[in-house]
Amino acid sequence: MADFKNKVAVITGAGGVLCSVFAEELAKHGAKVALLDLKKEASESVAEKIKQNGGTALAIECDVLHVESLKKADEEIWNAFGRVDILINGAGGNHSRGCTTNETFQMGDLEKEELTTFFNLDYEGFHFVFQLNFMGTLLATQVFAKRMLHQKDSCIVNISSMSAMTPLTKVPAYSAAKAAISNFTQWEAVHFADAGIRVNAIAPGFFITSQNEKLLLNTDGSYTERSQKILFKTPMKRFGVPADLVGTLLFLCDANASGFITGTVIPVDGGFMAFSGV
Ligand code: NAD
Repeated sequence: MADFKNKVAVITGAGGVLCSVFAEELAKHGAKVALLDLKKEASESVAEKIKQNGGTALAIECDVLHVESLKKADEEIWNAFGRVDILINGAGGNHSRGCTTNETFQMGDLEKEELTTFFNLDYEGFHFVFQLNFMGTLLATQVFAKRMLHQKDSCIVNISSMSAMTPLTKVPAYSAAKAAISNFTQWEAVHFADAGIRVNAIAPGFFITSQNEKLLLNTDGSYTERSQKILFKTPMKRFGVPADLVGTLLFLCDANASGFITGTVIPVDGGFMAFSGV
């Protein structure tokens, strides 16, 4: 069983659906966890739950897109725990402002003002989604990896997506950003190998969470046409639940299990990536 006693894990986006479970799990295996999120109440309630279960947790309000906010969090973590061993770059997500209305462009769409086509995609919206998913990982790594240099068993886990492998329709900004995350994971793995930091990523399949529920669920809770397409292309015929990701996370963070693994992007997707659809 993975043992992270005396290890400190920093988790960004820790108030969210997937990363709150990551934080709880790392704490359950002995790590002291720093929970960073834009929404302080969200990370505070996760920290409270961890403490009630006997773990050590520190909730910090932090915006991964602002270096000063990250540096302030780093100082707080350093004062409280005195080290950083594990960084989970989980803050991310999609936003409707980075999406097209339709899957494919049809002649005549330019005349329909109600549509967001490729041609009138909002620069700010695209930029926001790209920045959050890519720059939020890069900036957090610049701040926290400095603490991890030349110590035993440091590691970083980035969160990519199925949209990195083959882009998903409607979400060009999110797909581009997650592809950049997968690429950057490999770059970092090489760059930090001599410094003793392993860098890997998890590429989750489809999990219904706050960032994608508008695309996946109708207002009455039934599955959208997009959900039905996803389930058709997922051989295991279901959406993932956060617990499905936990084993891979613990494996990647545990040097006894994955000490010679760096630069990988591991799909946890019920077979989505393997299936051509035919
Ligand atoms: P979520 O919306 O539940 O969690 C994301 C968290 O990030 C939220 O708590 C939010 O407050 C926080 N956040 C947003 N902007 C931030 C910022 N600037 N600074 C700090 N925190 C910020 O979403 P989730 O589904 O749990 O997603 C977690 C990660 O997994 C994301 O990177 C997402 O892209 C990725 N992912 C999710 C799925 C899925 O199906 N849900 C699939 C593949 C990848």
